[in-house]
Parts: sequence; C-alpha cells; structure tokens
Amino acid sequence: MNLTETRALLLYVAENMVSSEPILTELDLKIGDGDHGLGMQRGFAAVRDLLKTETFQPKDVGELFLTSGTKMMSSMGGASGAIFGTLFRAGGKAIAGKENFDATALAQFLTAGSKAVFDRGGAKPGDKTMMDALVAAEKQADLVKSKSLKEALIKVVQAAEKGAGNTSNQVAVFGRAKSLGERSLGYIDPGAVSMSFILKYMSEFVNK
Ligand code: ADP
Ligand code: MG
Ligand code: MG
Repeated sequence: MNLTETRALLLYVAENMVSSEPILTELDLKIGDGDHGLGMQRGFAAVRDLLKTETFQPKDVGELFLTSGTKMMSSMGGASGAIFGTLFRAGGKAIAGKENFDATALAQFLTAGSKAVFDRGGAKPGDKTMMDALVAAEKQADLVKSKSLKEALIKVVQAAEKGAGNTSNQVAVFGRAKSLGERSLGYIDPGAVSMSFILKYMSEFVNK
C-alpha cells in the first residue's frame, strides 16, 4: 500500500488502540500498576493527532512510522513509552525510503523493531513481556514476506496472539509484574496484548 493508504492504516490502528484502553487497564491491574491502558491511549492519541495534522507530510512510510514512534516516546511515559516508541522508531528507520508498505516492509519493520527493543530492555521471549508477541510475529512475518500484505498479516496476527496467550504460562522477570514472581502465572501480559492488538488492527484495516 502506498504512503496515503499506510497513513490511513496507521490512523485506524491509533484510533482502535485509543479505544482499547479499558481492556489493557484491566490486564495491567491484575499484574502491574494499572496504567498500561492509559499510557497506550495517550501515546496513540498523540499519533492520531499527528496523522490528522495536514502539515505533517512524511516523505516515505519509514518516516511515517519513525515520527509516530517519536510521538509515542514523548507522550506515553512508563516502560511502554520507551518500548513501543523504540519499536516504531527502529522499525521506521529500517524501512526508510520505501514508498510502499508491503509484507517485506512489515517483516523488516518487525525484525529491526524487535532487535531494538531487546537492545533497550533485554527481555527475550519467555520473559512475559510484549517481546513474546513481537518475536513470534517477527518470525512469522519473515516466513510470509513474499505473500501479499493481507495474507501476511493474517498469519502474523495468529502468531502474535499465540505469543501473547502463552505469557499466561510464564513467570514475569521484567517490569512491575516481576515482584509477583509465581503469582504472575495465569495472567496474560498487558504489553503482549497491546502488541498483538496493533497487528490485529493493521490486519483488520487491510482485510476489511
Ligand atoms: P510500567 O510497567 O512502567 O507501569 P506499562 O504498564 O505501560 O509500564 O507497561 C508494562 C508492559 O511493558 C509490560 O506488560 C511488558 O509487556 C512491557 N515491558 C516491561 N519491561 C519490558 C522490557 N524490558 N522489554 C520489553 N517489554 C517490557
Ligand atoms: Mg503499568
Ligand atoms: Mg507504571
């Protein structure tokens, strides 16, 4: 999809992430401090406002994601501001110069993004964070990068949702849930759900 369509896709993601606040809040109340929903809402409201600003004219899809990540970082706060901001900024840099967002670009975005989040926070799959959804998505995206964006996103969302679901069988070793130790078992990680939601809304947009 071209730059205008990709901007519309990201706006759809931002608006739906804003509306997802209650469910994300509920998840973070169970194993965190309850602010994850409001943080994501604040970050994606800033992205939505950016995308609705006519004077914002990114030159390619890389800059579109990069500038969105910068907005998230400056508006969200908490662990997730740095984490999701890093994902969008590093992912955006990896697709700099691209005029189209396709399955290959999605794979490049997720690969560079997950590497950057790992470099920043050190969490690996199994540690009960958004990395469980992100790394699962990244691996799948790499396998389906020659398919259409529509087909690729369906597969990638399935992988991300599986990765997020698996976090309920894991003991947290990062973030606030870490202090719960074994008591974090049985609960899904809120950041992993946010990660799978971002991809789910992308898929909804292209498959509707
Ligand atoms: P805080 O923990 O500061 O209140 P949030 O509630 O907004 O921040 O975000 C919590 C989420 O951040 C967790 O659910 C987890 O997915 C993610 N997270 C925490 N630490 C890390 C890390 N080191 N790497 C990746 N994600 C992390
Ligand atoms: Mg929190
Ligand atoms: Mg907090």
